[in-house]
Amino acid sequence: MRRPIVAIVGRPNVGKSTLFNRIVGRSVAVIEDFPGITRDRLYEEAEWKDRPFIIVDTGGFQAEPEEDIARDVKRHALIAIEEADIVLLLMDAETGPVPADIELINILRRYEKKVIYVVNKIDSSKEEKRFLYDFYTLGVDLIPVSALNGYRYDELMEKLSSMLPRVTVKEEVSHPRIAIVGRPNVGKSTLVNSLLGKERMIVSPVPGTTRDAVDSICAYYKRRYIIVDTAGIRRKGKMAGTVEKYSFMRTLKNIEDSDVTLILIDSAEGVVEMDQKIAGLVYKAGKGAVILLNKWDLINKQGLSIKRIEEDVYRRLWFMRYAPILTISAINRQRVTKIFPLIDEIIKEANKRINTHELNLFLKDTLSVKEPQLYQGKRVKIYYITQVKTSPPSFVIFTSIREGIKMPYIKFLEGQMRERFSFKGVPLRFYVRQK
Ligand code: GDP
Repeated sequence: MRRPIVAIVGRPNVGKSTLFNRIVGRSVAVIEDFPGITRDRLYEEAEWKDRPFIIVDTGGFQAEPEEDIARDVKRHALIAIEEADIVLLLMDAETGPVPADIELINILRRYEKKVIYVVNKIDSSKEEKRFLYDFYTLGVDLIPVSALNGYRYDELMEKLSSMLPRVTVKEEVSHPRIAIVGRPNVGKSTLVNSLLGKERMIVSPVPGTTRDAVDSICAYYKRRYIIVDTAGIRRKGKMAGTVEKYSFMRTLKNIEDSDVTLILIDSAEGVVEMDQKIAGLVYKAGKGAVILLNKWDLINKQGLSIKRIEEDVYRRLWFMRYAPILTISAINRQRVTKIFPLIDEIIKEANKRINTHELNLFLKDTLSVKEPQLYQGKRVKIYYITQVKTSPPSFVIFTSIREGIKMPYIKFLEGQMRERFSFKGVPLRFYVRQK
């Protein structure tokens, strides 16, 4: 089940990223840095009273140089509005309502979205009285908060969590859900067509939850697979290029909606920056991944070393060395069906649980190979590791000094862990706790 997406929308300087940071809080996994998206902290996992969701700070979207800021904000807001499950429209008490706010409100009304109207920078009930009055003319329910000091923040979160869509108990059929992602023209629609068109594969639209999302079912032997958002992938025409470029939200949503994501790369062009960003989204969403080098038919295979090519891909997608690489030709259907056994395997790996006893045996062996470096002259002990979650497999490392467990050591640990337990195709998460 996809986690709901909550987008914070509003003009520059209203406090979007302050609110974002407060919502995200501190309990984030230690993960590798990767291109583009994480560094700006565009979106993070969050939860309120055990209800998980994804929070997006639309203020982090990059402005196009040729466009003025107002238009840019509006466009980003529009995309966010279209793709989000809930929108937090943030306004600024200090400036009062401005025309841009009114414009956003009018847009939101048209969309019939779930919206929470928030007036930020209100620190006390006194300020509430002073500032909120001006906003009443907008004719919407308002929640005053201070993103900075937390005034009435809990109320905002209660409201938000009451609006989050209920996670249904279990979907009637739990076929593996597959997202196909990649930049324009890598061959996504072609792959969809070749997956759906093959022999006895059936196309059966499953009504989407919102908008025009249509999923398709395809079959391989007796197994069925759902291809997420087939309509979005196949949609072509004048909008395709520009919208796809900005529609990181749509990609994110499709990834979130999947069990395994297929990342398409154009073999002839190799991994470019946008591929890195897309792969970064998949990694961060914690989903299983297969890297598909498409258009393999265009490659001159003389004197070619597959190993070298794979190494090239992994060097550019260094945070995703766990993902298997498959060379395919979507157009000729070459090796396309090989995707399915990989998907099955990855789903199995994503759901694997290692018990604490096994993990401790593993930890003992690992520590005997290498211990964490001294931290300020002190030995950093690791007491034990437990797996707290699957999909993605997530581990808590209990240590004597939290700051003493650094990224290089976690990477070492991860490497050792994969050697012993595999976890092929899935990212791992590590949390560090001090005991
Ligand atoms: P999308 O934008 O990712 O959906 O890409 P399309 O599926 O529309 O493909 C873009 C172009 O690449 C089209 O002209 C396809 O015919 C072509 N294409 C897709 N897959 C392959 C392939 O495996 N080999 C070759 N040679 N061309 C391909």
